[in-house]
Amino acid sequence: MSDVRIDDLPVRDELRGKSPYGAPQLDVPVRLNTNENPYPLPEPLVERIAERVREAARNLNRYPDRDAVELRTKLAEYLTDTSGHEVGLANVWAANGSNEVIQQLLQTFGGPGRTAIGFEPSYSMHGLISRGTGTGWISGPRNEDFTVDLEAAEKAIAEHRPDVVFITTPNNPTGNAVPPETVLALYEAAQAAKAETAGAIVVVDEAYIEFSHGDSLLPLIEGRPNLVVSRTMSKAFGAAGLRLGYLAAHPAVVDAVQLVRLPYHLSAVTQATALAALEHTETLLGYVEQLKAERDRLVRELRATGYEVVESDANFVQFGRFEDAHTAWQKILDQGVLVRDNGIPGWLRVSAGTPEENDAFLDAVRALKKEQS
Ligand code: PMP
Repeated sequence: MSDVRIDDLPVRDELRGKSPYGAPQLDVPVRLNTNENPYPLPEPLVERIAERVREAARNLNRYPDRDAVELRTKLAEYLTDTSGHEVGLANVWAANGSNEVIQQLLQTFGGPGRTAIGFEPSYSMHGLISRGTGTGWISGPRNEDFTVDLEAAEKAIAEHRPDVVFITTPNNPTGNAVPPETVLALYEAAQAAKAETAGAIVVVDEAYIEFSHGDSLLPLIEGRPNLVVSRTMSKAFGAAGLRLGYLAAHPAVVDAVQLVRLPYHLSAVTQATALAALEHTETLLGYVEQLKAERDRLVRELRATGYEVVESDANFVQFGRFEDAHTAWQKILDQGVLVRDNGIPGWLRVSAGTPEENDAFLDAVRALKKEQS
C-alpha cells in the first residue's frame, strides 16, 4: 500500500507535486516559530471554559446554533469597544479559524475562472487556499523594504483585474503594517478595474492588529460593501488551539458567505469556549501589552547586536540579513530555539515569547553574530 503516492491518485491537476502548509512542530525548549501567544490561558478562564463546555455538553445531542448568534453578538461588541466603530451581529461572521473565513470568502467570491492577488512575501495561505478553491493566484509585488509598492500594486490590479485582493496588515511574515491610505487606494483601484461588474472584494487580514501601534481599519467598512476585515482569536486572545476566526463587513457579505458555509460548521464546544474567552478579554489584552513591550525589546536588541530588522506592528519580528538563512536557522535551533525560515532569502522570523524565551533567543543570535564576525 505504501508504494501509492499522492500523485498516483486521481487528484486535481493543480495539486500535483505540491506540499501541504506546515511549520515544523519540533520538541525543543523554546518554540518561537508560529506566532503563537506564549502565555497559557489564565486559570480562572480555564475554569470558565470548563463550566461553559459542561453546559454545552448537556445539549450535544442537538446541532449547535447554526448562526452562532450569541458568539457573533459578543464579537461585535468586542470590535465596537476596541475600534470605536459600531458593528452589530449582522456585520460579523465566525468560522473555525480565520483560515476558514478566508476559505469561505474565496468559495464565495473566487473560484474557477476567477483570480485573487496578494502582495508577497505575505501570508502564504492566501495563495494556498486560493489554489484549493480553484481560484487563480497572482503574486503582486512589494518594495525591497517589504512595504507595498503602491504604484506597482495598482498596475498589477489594473492588468489582472482580480476578483479578490488580500492586504495583510500587519503583514506576516515581515511584521510591518500597511498605511490606511494605501489600503484605500488599492480598494479604489480594485473597484475601478472591475467597474463593469460588481467590483472586487478586498480582504484586509488583521490577524495581528491587536499588536499594532496603529488602529484597526475596521471603520473603513462603512460605505464600502466590498471591504472585509478578517480577524482571529488565535493571536491576541492566546487561543490558537480554539480555532476561532471572524470577519466584519457589510451585512450582505455575511449573507453571501452563508451560501458556502457547511451547516453547523461551528461546534457547540467551540462556541462555548470562545464565549468564555471573550468574558476575559481585559486580562487577555493585558498579555498583549506585555508582548508588545517584548516585541519592541526584540527589535531594539536585535538592532543593537547588528542585525537588520523590519519595523514590526505584530507579535513577531523579521530579522537578517544572513548569507544563508537556513544555516542560521539551524544554528539557532542547535541552541534550543526554534524560529521560522519562511524561505525569504536572507531573513528569518521570530515570534515574541515570554521574557525568558526571548532572552534565550537573544543569547542564541548574539552567539551567532560573534561566530560570523
Ligand atoms: N492570517 C494571517 C496573516 C496569519 O498569519 C494567520 C496564522 N498564521 C492566519 C490568518 C490564520 O489564523 P487562524 O486560522 O489561526 O485564525
